[in-house]
Amino acid sequence: MINHLCVLSEVAPSYAPAGRSLVAVCLRGDRADAGAEQALRDKLAGWFGRSVFDWQHLRTDRIPAALPPLPVIKRPGPSDRCELSPGLFACGDYRDGGTLDGAIRSGRATAEVVAHRLIMRRSAPLVARTGDRRGGPVA
Ligand SMILES: Cc1cc2nc3c(=O)[nH]c(=O)nc-3n(C[C@H](O)[C@H](O)[C@H](O)COP(=O)(O)OP(=O)(O)OC[C@H]3O[C@@H](n4cnc5c(N)ncnc54)[C@H](O)[C@@H]3O)c2cc1C
Repeated sequence: MINHLCVLSEVAPSYAPAGRSLVAVCLRGDRADAGAEQALRDKLAGWFGRSVFDWQHLRTDRIPAALPPLPVIKRPGPSDRCELSPGLFACGDYRDGGTLDGAIRSGRATAEVVAHRLIMRRSAPLVARTGDRRGGPVA
């Protein structure tokens, strides 16, 4: 039922009055019946406790066709194939899957490969490699 939940005011405090929080819940499907809100509160009560029954519902936005059917968006290959040529890295949804989580997965995989590469460079013997007699780190 719940796709994701985010306490937006934790990221942007101005989104809620002082002492209150703005919670956004993204639901899958198109359930619009009167029982939907109650079912959601029941579910959230398992996560946050019974205080969710006091939460104020501000509004519901229905977004039909929010995302193209996923089979349409082809995945070109595993996220970890991110080095296009030596030292040239790429990331983005087009390298994994055409969604936000595909973009994040690809970005993370690329960042990990780059970080690993930087660590390997820094652990190499700097003086021998750079000829820098001060032995300081290489930028
Ligand atoms: C209408 C629509 C609805 C969507 N709905 C959902 C949804 O409900 N859920 C979901 O998970 N995903 C959804 N998506 C997909 C999701 O938005 C994308 O998968 C995600 O934003 C891709 O992130 P990204 O960082 O890979 O690319 P982008 O967010 O496209 O970022 C690429 C950035 O690179 C910049 N750029 C491009 N070329 C250059 C250049 N030459 N030089 C410098 N900068 C450049 C662009 O301006 C852009 O800012 C939707 C997409 C669309 C279009």
